[in-house]
Amino acid sequence: MLKLSGVTRRYGDAVALDGLDFIVPDDTYVSLLGASGSGKTTLLRLIAGFEEPDAGELMLGGERLDGKPPHRRDIGFVFQNFALFPHLSVEENVAFGLRHRESKAVPAGSDLNDRVNAALDLVGLTGFGHRGVGEISGGQKQRVALARTLVTEPRIVLLDEPLGALDANLRARMCDELRAIRERLKVSFLHVTGSETEALTMGDTVAVLANGRIAQAQDSTSLFTQPANTAAARHLNAWNLIGGRVKGRTLDTAVGALPISQSLPDGSEAQLAVRFDQIGVCEPDQVPAGQDHFTARYLAGEFNGPTELSFFRADNGDLIQVVNHLSNPRLPDLTEGRTYALHFSPDAALLFEGAA
Ligand code: ADP
Ligand code: MG
Repeated sequence: MLKLSGVTRRYGDAVALDGLDFIVPDDTYVSLLGASGSGKTTLLRLIAGFEEPDAGELMLGGERLDGKPPHRRDIGFVFQNFALFPHLSVEENVAFGLRHRESKAVPAGSDLNDRVNAALDLVGLTGFGHRGVGEISGGQKQRVALARTLVTEPRIVLLDEPLGALDANLRARMCDELRAIRERLKVSFLHVTGSETEALTMGDTVAVLANGRIAQAQDSTSLFTQPANTAAARHLNAWNLIGGRVKGRTLDTAVGALPISQSLPDGSEAQLAVRFDQIGVCEPDQVPAGQDHFTARYLAGEFNGPTELSFFRADNGDLIQVVNHLSNPRLPDLTEGRTYALHFSPDAALLFEGAA
C-alpha cells in the first residue's frame, strides 16, 4: 500500500498540494481526477521522487519513500507524452532503463532480450521490437512507453494522463487493455486524468483532487451517485449545484425556496445538488405532485448520439443542465427562449453544507 500523509508542496507562494492524505491500496487500479493545474503531475513526481514534499510523508509497503532517490523507489512512471527516445528502436527503448539503471542493471544478452520480449508481449507488441519509434502509431507508442516501465518490474505504476494523446476510438480500447494488463501484473496503477469519464471507467477507486487535497476517494458508482461535497460533485460534470441559505426546512436560493430534508442551522450556506439525468421538464403549471421544482429558460440542446444535453438559464443566471437518453426520452419538445419548470424528486437531491 502507498500512503501519503499531510503532503504539502509549494511553488513560491502557490500551494500545489496542501496537506494531502491519500492511500493507493495494493493490487488496485486507482484513477485520480483533477482539473488542469490541480497538482496531478506534482503528486506523481513526489511519489516517484523527482521532487520532495515541503511537509508530510510518503510510505510504500511500510517503508519511508520521501528522501530516497528515484532509482531506489522501484516506482514506474509513464510520462504524459510518452518521452520515447526517437532515434532508438522499440526494443532499445524498452531495454534502455534496464540496461542503464544504477542498481541491478541488466547487460545486453539473452536475459535482457527475454525480459524485453515478455514486456512487448504483455502490451500486445509482439514482433514490433525492430521497428523505429517513428514507424509506429500513437497507440503503439503508448504501449512502448508502458512496456518500458513494466519491464523494470515496478512496485507501483504511475500514469500521467496516459490516454490524452490518443484519439477517442483508441482511447476506449487502451482503457480496456490497461485494466487487463494491470490485472495480470497485480501491481497497483495510479492513473491521473482530467476526464471524468476516463476516471470513472478506469478506477476500482476514483479519487478527486481539488484545492490541493483529495476531496473524495471511492468506487466509481458511489462517487458518481453520492458525491460527498461540492468539489467532488463539480468534477463529475453530472450534477447541478444551486446555492442558498438555510431557512427552516428550505433552502432560500436565487431560483426560489427549495425544500431540504436535513436540518441545518438557519442562515448557514448550503448547496443543493441534482444530477443532470434526474431533472424532468414540464410547463410551469403542470409540475407533478410530490416533485420539487424551479423555473428556468431553455437555451439550447446538444445532441451527443445516445444522449442529448439541454441547457437552461435559471433566474440567477446559473446554467442548469438536463440530460435525456434517446432510448428512454423523458423530455417534451422544447422551444428556445421559453420558461419551463425543472422538477425532481426530493430524494434525488443532495445537500452540501458550506459555500460554493
Ligand atoms: P496538473 O498536472 O494537474 O495540470 P501540475 O501538478 O502540473 O498540475 O501543477 C500544479 C500547480 O503547480 C500549477 O499551478 C502549476 O503552475 C504549479 N507548478 C507545477 N510545477 C511547477 C514548477 N516547477 N514551478 C512553479 N510552479 C509549478
Ligand atoms: Mg499534469
